[in-house]
Amino acid sequence: MRRHCQACGAALEERELEGRLRAVCPACGRVAYQNPVPAAAVAVLDGRRVLLGRRAIDPHRGAWGLPAGYQEVDESIETAAVREAREETGLIVQLTGLFDVLTTTDDPRKPSLLVVFTGRAVDGDLEPGSDCAEVAWHDLDHLPDDVGFRNDRRVLERLRTGADKAFS
Ligand SMILES: [Zn+2]
Repeated sequence: MRRHCQACGAALEERELEGRLRAVCPACGRVAYQNPVPAAAVAVLDGRRVLLGRRAIDPHRGAWGLPAGYQEVDESIETAAVREAREETGLIVQLTGLFDVLTTTDDPRKPSLLVVFTGRAVDGDLEPGSDCAEVAWHDLDHLPDDVGFRNDRRVLERLRTGADKAFS
């Protein structure tokens, strides 16, 4: 939890507010709300192949995952998706659909709201970015066992089976 007020710098206090313990500034009254951070992922598809990166950073270092990352304050979620795909895979991706919206709770950095797009590569050269040890196309019917994030596994399973989104 944040320790100092972003507005005035005073030390925050925990107070019960709206039925929760929240960090409140005793000097200016500002409440330091904690919310999930928006993130975007892209399932870049080529027929029944999907593009995955092997993570070079924690969490899930060494495991495979969809190109993904946090939305910057001055960009749309679509722009974030295309940027992350380019940074992590070297490919320029055109988004083709909105595939899922998922809450990520198994990332120790912070909870996020993950917007998952489908896309296709239109240009660029396959090359792993600094967050990736390796990028490679994987057949949806022969996916690697070590996919790190639970939501990536859910997305890949739905892509493989064509199942509708389950609301749970
Ligand atoms: Zn304050």
